[in-house]
Amino acid sequence: LIRFDAIELPPELTLFRETIRDFVRREIDPIEGELRRQNATAIPPDIVKSLQPKARALGLWCFDAPEEYGGGGLGPAAMWVCHEEASKHTYSFPDPGCGIFGYEPPNILKGATPEQKERFLRPTIEEGRQWSVMITEPSGGSDPARTIQTKARRDGNHWILTGRKIFASRADSASHAIVFARTGEGRGGISAFIVDLPAENMDIRKVYVIRDHHSCEVALDGVTVPLDNLLGEEGQGFALAQRWMVRSRLKIAAQSMGVSQVAVEMAAEYSKQRYTFGKPLAARQMVQQMLVDSYIAIKAGRWLSWEAVQKAEKGLDARHEASIAKLYCTEAGFQILDRAIQILGGMGLSRELSLEHWFRGIRVMRIVEGASEVHRMVLARDLLGELAVDRPASSA
Ligand SMILES: Cc1cc2nc3c(=O)[nH]c(=O)nc-3n(C[C@H](O)[C@H](O)[C@H](O)COP(=O)(O)OP(=O)(O)OC[C@H]3O[C@@H](n4cnc5c(N)ncnc54)[C@H](O)[C@@H]3O)c2cc1C
Repeated sequence: LIRFDAIELPPELTLFRETIRDFVRREIDPIEGELRRQNATAIPPDIVKSLQPKARALGLWCFDAPEEYGGGGLGPAAMWVCHEEASKHTYSFPDPGCGIFGYEPPNILKGATPEQKERFLRPTIEEGRQWSVMITEPSGGSDPARTIQTKARRDGNHWILTGRKIFASRADSASHAIVFARTGEGRGGISAFIVDLPAENMDIRKVYVIRDHHSCEVALDGVTVPLDNLLGEEGQGFALAQRWMVRSRLKIAAQSMGVSQVAVEMAAEYSKQRYTFGKPLAARQMVQQMLVDSYIAIKAGRWLSWEAVQKAEKGLDARHEASIAKLYCTEAGFQILDRAIQILGGMGLSRELSLEHWFRGIRVMRIVEGASEVHRMVLARDLLGELAVDRPASSA
């Protein structure tokens, strides 16, 4: 195995990481080999369900969710390490463990009232249920403060939601959704609502994308939501989401680095065994360059993530660093997977191996949770100030 570690972890975190590593090798890897040969696109739900109790018994459950509601309650550093390690298997996109380690509830729920947490968060963690977050609309996802057209109208004891969402992951399998809808003008006019699924007057259609997990288009045609399902204050949907976006970005960075490490290990191993023109690929400088560039990019991505993690650990605002980590790790990860596929040649493209699956999965990550260009835009503003963008800093 190639050593990527330069980050020194406390002993208990090293042990926790080893527990995850062992679990993945013992319980997940053997199943996935066979599934790949059968051209499966995910670990089937019955196998996920059968392995969930084993993972839970080891404390490997919803790493990021609050401990008092049944989650792991891990801090940023531990959460990063666990997501990185739990991603080192074939079907790790979009969920490390494919749901075997539970489904992380959306971070925005950390801003729910204690009563809402009891009502929604606790049972969904307890029962391993999924959530869908519905922000993006056909009018665009990069700038939702301007493009959200879904309306929430107050009617007696209810809100009535009307509009259309696109690319809502898990809308057809989740037990709840968080729907962002307009209750007023501008950025301060977006509110977040918890909606039980399936809901009356909601129509869901699958949308197939490059990765094996589809997304959904959702039509809301007067969906009724009780008043006390409003998340946070009216008009504070984005403010609330922003408070926890660092964590979701760090998770994506961790996942990207997890699969990248396995890809480099696979490519390095292959290069030692595969002979062309009388020599192993490992002896070719063009192949060496690809491997070394990938190795350095992983080290860089992990350090950049670690900078964000350390800042978040201190309770400081780590949005800038988390943006860099998400941007760098997804872009570097994409290149690393591309190089690994190149080194393995035809086998790299084969569905019997994991590379092509990760390649398609990581491609998505350069667009979700802020496209790379949007992160660069925000980072440019941090570097250059107000002149760098066409709108005030406070609204980006
Ligand atoms: C598989 C998948 C799962 C998803 N899951 C969810 C989900 O669960 N919930 C949800 O709400 N949404 C989800 N999304 C939507 C995702 O968040 C959006 O696709 C993303 O925010 C980009 O929005 P858009 O596709 O409308 O692109 P647009 O906003 O139209 O932007 C198009 C492209 O323009 C470029 N761009 C945008 N702004 C700028 C700028 N200022 N400067 C330079 N270039 C720019 C970027 O390259 C961007 O990719 C998902 C999408 C996919 C593909």
